[in-house]
Parts: sequence; structure tokens; C-alpha cells
Amino acid sequence: GTLPDSYHGLDLSGRWEPRLPASYLEHWAAEIPDAPALTFIDYLADRKGPRRTWTWAQWDVWTRAVAARLQQLAGRTDRVAILAPQGPDFVVAFHAALRAGVISVPLFAPDLPGHADRLEHVLDDSEPTVVVTSADKRDLVDKELASRGLTGKVAVVVPSELETDAALAATFVPPSDLSLDDIAYLQYTSGSTRAPAGVELTHLNLTVNMFQIIQAHGLSDVVPDVTAVAWLPLFHDMGLLLGAAATAIVGVHSVLFDPLAFILKPSRWTTELAAHPNVFSAAPNFAYAVAAKKTKPEQLEGLDYSRVVGLVNGAEPVLVKTIDTFEATFGPYGLPATAQRPSFGLAEATLFVSLGDPTDPRVVVQADVAALQEGRLVPAEGGTPLVSCGRPFGNVVAIVDPETSQVLPEGAVGEIWVHGPSVGQGYWRKPEESQATFGGRLSASEAEAAGVPEGPWLRTGDLGAYVGPDLFITGRQKDLIIIDGRNIYPHDIEHSVQHAHEGIALHRLAAFSVPTDAGDNGEGMVVVAEAYRQFPDAGAHLAEIEAAARARVSEEHSVGMHEFVLIASDTIPWTSSGKIARRATRQAYLDGTLNRVTP
Ligand code: ATP
Ligand code: MG
Repeated sequence: GTLPDSYHGLDLSGRWEPRLPASYLEHWAAEIPDAPALTFIDYLADRKGPRRTWTWAQWDVWTRAVAARLQQLAGRTDRVAILAPQGPDFVVAFHAALRAGVISVPLFAPDLPGHADRLEHVLDDSEPTVVVTSADKRDLVDKELASRGLTGKVAVVVPSELETDAALAATFVPPSDLSLDDIAYLQYTSGSTRAPAGVELTHLNLTVNMFQIIQAHGLSDVVPDVTAVAWLPLFHDMGLLLGAAATAIVGVHSVLFDPLAFILKPSRWTTELAAHPNVFSAAPNFAYAVAAKKTKPEQLEGLDYSRVVGLVNGAEPVLVKTIDTFEATFGPYGLPATAQRPSFGLAEATLFVSLGDPTDPRVVVQADVAALQEGRLVPAEGGTPLVSCGRPFGNVVAIVDPETSQVLPEGAVGEIWVHGPSVGQGYWRKPEESQATFGGRLSASEAEAAGVPEGPWLRTGDLGAYVGPDLFITGRQKDLIIIDGRNIYPHDIEHSVQHAHEGIALHRLAAFSVPTDAGDNGEGMVVVAEAYRQFPDAGAHLAEIEAAARARVSEEHSVGMHEFVLIASDTIPWTSSGKIARRATRQAYLDGTLNRVTP
């Protein structure tokens, strides 16, 4: 569990020596006891958004009290499931688990709409001995446990009941045998392509990835004087690192609210970005698009965005157009042109892998469409604009042919492989999948020629290419639609189709391939799209909508569509982190369970 002073550009020396996250919590409580650690804005309780703030001193007592209780109830390798809603109970549970040295499983309250399957699956898979929840979800959690025959077998902890329990806090004894290599938590993946898998992440993975993020953004000298504005779900990797781990490790002040509060009123996010010095935040592309679209100039009067120090755009394909629109909206109010930074990452590498250079994050190429379909990223006039997801930081990233395990040259599209200290240990209780995903190896000669390690490599299943030092993500291997030997990326098709007709909803569609017995070489492309809620009587316009979709796809991608399916609004399958579940949509198509709009 030791690290060198520097690792592939990552400075681990000086004030950033790798220590257990728990010791950072102690550090901030001693160093800045009266500074704010967490502010929670409870928009769901009251639209005006009442705020409550905890200082590091208060936070220290609270996390020690909860850690002491966890120690009484759970052994060091036991799992502690966090079934609390977005809020202080959740964050304190995560921090307390780090201190107690138990394995936490970040989840959500049992009544989170659309998440019952995920909850069921993850509870079965992780077998927690303790559940942490909030006072108002306690009854629901008791019912959930009763329905599984676990009443009395699984203990329930409610942090808010222990908030000022100094006597309990005083009984906390930090585990003497806790090591950086112990598993800190299980991060379940989003489930875009399969049932969610629990990535085993150690205290070292978490600490290192947090440093990598801070250093890649050039914020080493600014933290802890940073405010993280966090509304992404805490049970998702990006939400957890921003809303909970950043607080614990680098001592930033996290201003937290519920994802639903953002969805209901996106300006809650954008006004908060102008309300603090050194603001940092992260969100997937759609959130930037929505925020820019819903903001009217008069709402921005008097707001100052010049103090924003970094906005991460990641977790989903990043669109040049979205970056431009967001900048056009907030730039006139001081948003630095370098604030928005495309980023690539995944739960298997804790979260963060690559980031646009903070001094020049917008690297765009016009990619030749025909070459891209043949697996090459070649700039050409009039091509599709692609923005780079930046450069790897503190890990090594290679582009590898997934069939032959050969390192590919610049410009060739291949599987993105990652090696380094933020890569997790494997999937919880899945030895075969762990070996297949985390056990990538290059031959000695191959590794030497490319100047990279032989292994172990994380095989991300994502496809991409380097142009110079800049990494471009082109799509997921599993989602790739291969027709007549051409590689078609579903999000390119989806992008075209959603703009083909006003009866088609934005961001709510999936393209995939299915086996066919028609004359299209056995593979056909299907697009399933939701009707736009506010478009009257889509059924009556079905033929016209379909014709527009087909024409647009043929024109922009020179490829035919096997079938176009229009479905009712709000019926497409989603993942826990708000991504379209293409696999699940495909399955529903094959099973004939889609809620089709009929003429
Ligand atoms: P599952 O692995 O369960 O199918 P998931 O891969 O969506 O779900 P996450 O680990 O939350 O779960 O998401 C990581 C994935 O998100 C990456 O592997 C990649 O496919 C996608 N992704 C992340 N950042 C970007 C980006 N900047 N551009 C394109 N895709 C991205
Ligand atoms: Mg994945």
C-alpha cells in the first residue's frame, strides 16, 4: 500500500501524501474546525430551499459517533448498505464507514422511483449486515427488511439520532489494522449494459483518484478553499466523489441538494455556481444542455460566474454544441472559457481517468464519417465534430485492439485500456468477470514497444482513439452497431433521429442492432424513440415521423434502418444514473413489450 512520490505526472509528495481517508477527516477537523464541511439545501421539503450547514468540528463528532455505532454492529469486512436519501445522513454514513473501516455500499432510499430492481439486485449481491437510513425512511427500510425475512438479522442505524452524541463519539477507536489496500466501498456500476456490478474500491483507490481530480484541474493550491456544488446522485460514482469523498479527503465545502431538485428547477444549480468563491461542479452533458436552455438572460442579471474554477462534463458523450451553448449563455456573465472540461471515467477506475487540459480544454476535431465507420479517427473538413475527453492523469491509458491485444497507433480506434493506482480490485464476488475486465495483459514485446506496462490492465469496453496526446471516446464496444462491416455508433444515430421531427422527444431514444433474416447481412438497425409529450396526437403522424427519421439517418450516415419504433412518452428504460439503457430497450423490443404508439 505505498506509493511513489510521483506517478505518471501525479504529484503524491508533500501535503498530498497518501493517507487513509479517515485521517484526512481528522486532519480537517483539527485544521479548520469552524469552516463549513457540508451544507444541505432541502428543496424537496420546502421549495424555498432551507439550508443547514455543519462545521468540521460538528462533522467530526457526528462521524465518530456513527463510526462507533458501526463498529459495534459490523466487523471489518462486513457490508454496510447506505439506504438514505440524498442528504446529510448519507454523507455522514459514508464518512463514518471510512473511519470504522467497514465496507460501505452507497445506495438510496427504498422508495426512489424506478430503482426497485437495482435495490433488490444490489442487496442480494452485497449481503449487508447493517443498513443506514434517515429517520423519515426508517419505516420503509424496516418493511424492506421484513419482506426479505431479515428483521432482527440486519441492524438499522439512523445517523440523525446520533448527531450530537459526544459520549458515543468518545468511544470510537480508529481500527489499528486498517490499511490503504482494504476495500472501502463497493461502487455498483450504472447498469447501462448489464446488471450493475459492484466494483471493489480500496481506501487507496479513493484517495488517489481524489488527488488525481484535484491535480488534473490545477486546484492543488486552492483546496480546501473550494465549494463543490453537488446534486448528482450520491450512489453514482461521479456524485459520490463530488458530494462525499471530496469533503472527506480534500476538505472542500460541499453544497448538496437532491437530483430531483435540479430536474424540477435547473437554475438552482446555476445560481449556486455563482454564489461562492472557487466553485467546482460536475454533471453529464444533458445537464449543461438543459441548464443553458432553461436559463433566461434576465435570471442572470447581477450574477458573477468568474469565480468558477472547474465544471466537469462527463459520464456520457460530450457534445461540442452543448459546450458552446453553455458558454454562450454564461460566458457574458463571467464564466471563464476554460471552465467547462470534458472528462472520461468509469466506476472500475473509481471515477476519473482523463480530463481536458484546464488551460485549453476544448480540443475539437472534425472526424471523417467514412473513416470513423472503418475504425479510424481522421480529421477532415466537413466531418462530425468530436471533442476530446482530454488527457489521462495519474493512470496510463492505451488504445488496444480487443481481439489481438495489440497496442494501436495514433488515430486508430480501439478499446480503451487503463492501468494505474485508481483502478479497482475487481467485481465483488465475480471472479470470472473480474479476470476478464481487470486482467488485461499485453505481451512483453508489445508493452516494451509501446512503453507501457504489461499489466494488469482494466479493459473498459469503451472505444476511442488518440489524436496526439488527446483522447477521444467514440462509443461502447457492446453498443456498436456493425452493418456491412461498418461501425455505426448509436449516439450518432440517436442524435440525428431526435432532431428529425418535432414529434420525437430529445434524449429519449435508443439505437441498436438485431439479428434479421432480411437481406441486410443478418444485422439490422432498430431505433426506438419516445414521442414528444407536447406533440399532439403522434399516432396520427406516425408515418410522417418515421419517414423523417429514416430520411435523416440515410442522409447523415448512409445507412438504412431495419425498423423505427415510436413509443409512448416516459416509457424508455433508464439506468440509475439517468442513462438510456440500450440493452434493456433492445431486450424489450425483442420481447415485444415496448409501449408502441399506434396510428
Ligand atoms: P454498466 O457498466 O453497468 O453497463 P456504466 O458503464 O454506464 O454501466 P459507469 O461506470 O457509471 O457505468 O459509467 C462509465 C461509462 O460511461 C464509461 O465506461 C463510458 O461508457 C461512459 N462515459 C463516461 N464518460 C464518458 C465520456 N466523456 N464520453 C462518453 N462516454 C463516457
Ligand atoms: Mg461500465
